[in-house]
Amino acid sequence: MLLQLLVVTGIAVWRRNSAAPASAAPSAAEPAVARHPLAWSGTRDFRVIRRDYEDPAHSQCSFYLAPVDGAALPPFKPGQFLTFQLQLADTGAAAQRPITRCYSLSDQPDPAHYRVTIKRVPAPADRPDLPAGVSSNYFHDQVQVGDVLQVRAPSGHFYLDAASPTPVVLVGGGIGITPMMSMLRCCLAGQPGRTVHLYYGLRNSQEQAFKQTLEQLASAHPQMHLQVVYSRPAADDVPGRDYQHAGHVNLALLRQQLPHGPHQFYVCGPAPMMETLVPELLTWGVPPQDVHFEAFGPASVRLPAASAQAASSAPATPVEVRFSQSGRTLPWDGQQANLLDFAERHGVAVDSGCRSGGCGSCETRLRKGTVSYANRPDHDPVPGHCLLCVARPTSDVELEA
Ligand SMILES: Cc1cc2nc3c(=O)[nH]c(=O)nc-3n(C[C@H](O)[C@H](O)[C@H](O)COP(=O)(O)OP(=O)(O)OC[C@H]3O[C@@H](n4cnc5c(N)ncnc54)[C@H](O)[C@@H]3O)c2cc1C
Repeated sequence: MLLQLLVVTGIAVWRRNSAAPASAAPSAAEPAVARHPLAWSGTRDFRVIRRDYEDPAHSQCSFYLAPVDGAALPPFKPGQFLTFQLQLADTGAAAQRPITRCYSLSDQPDPAHYRVTIKRVPAPADRPDLPAGVSSNYFHDQVQVGDVLQVRAPSGHFYLDAASPTPVVLVGGGIGITPMMSMLRCCLAGQPGRTVHLYYGLRNSQEQAFKQTLEQLASAHPQMHLQVVYSRPAADDVPGRDYQHAGHVNLALLRQQLPHGPHQFYVCGPAPMMETLVPELLTWGVPPQDVHFEAFGPASVRLPAASAQAASSAPATPVEVRFSQSGRTLPWDGQQANLLDFAERHGVAVDSGCRSGGCGSCETRLRKGTVSYANRPDHDPVPGHCLLCVARPTSDVELEA
């Protein structure tokens, strides 16, 4: 069975965690989901102190952010992300209200600043008539040094296990390199005895980010093994100099290269990479607890265990969804990927942001009934609430919306 995560605008976040239920009234039977304390609540003002393009095509730009209050920044876990609340007042009527987007921290913790690296998202190739990505283009075109942005504290469950000595394999596809940069630098700095393999998959040198940094790190740290993999090398890309392999980062390549023994895998990339590599690793026999992943974009990941759990948590009989504030009761037909899509399709207004369980914008009180998540969301909702963007009902539900 194929499980599909449909995320319209952003990143589909799949974790190895099993399907997690949520119910209106937490009970002793409800699995405990640890709520990670955030470094600050709500948003904090950050000033952009520097911006740098990271690739020759200038499609990936790093933004360095220092807190306006001047206080030292708390550390974060390598792989976590920041959530931005953007006021796009001058970009047209459609964007008058704040929008919320998540961006991974792309460097190791520094008490003076954070760094995120943002790829410009164009309109889909087959729909050039659609507007280009709102947030990423706003960052590239409007956000300048000196500007102040509202930022929520680092969060997310996709982060390096920095206590483990097991060799680590980082696989970054395209802009999925960002959390890998943070993990890599933390690993090299904090665990100098730990072997780290970095596989960076991308089209060609035009879109290669952090090239000089990665090459310098690899030559300074013998325990780091850098493998750059181009799927479409450009005419002047030289094998051995610019890239080590032509093709894709796949199991065949990993099997050929990695030494025998256990490894911890961290994978972040576009849908095609996630849809093949993650299930392949599990089929190869890598224990699920050693496969960590986060997908940037819509992804369909074939995970036998999660598929079976999702199937067993699907309601056996038709269920109803009641939106108490809107006064509407509607039959859930299972056609929508989640309750946020369902609400929007029926004209029920709900806040939303990342559409992938990361930012918490769509957190809604679950007054009655139960929902399930295919995987544990990054944002931990308070008990008795749920995240509409990744939740599906498993019984009749009443939502405060
Ligand atoms: C945990 C997490 C970490 C992330 N880390 C990073 C990171 O480090 N770097 C990074 O660059 N991104 C990252 N992202 C992705 C980022 O959050 C945004 O999703 C991304 O920048 C796109 O947002 P946008 O507002 O630019 O595009 P959106 O406005 O959301 O548009 C997305 C796409 O939809 C198209 N579109 C517009 N209208 C329609 C329509 N009517 N129908 C169909 N399609 C339409 C747009 O043209 C565009 O191609 C991360 C996401 C998450 C959840």
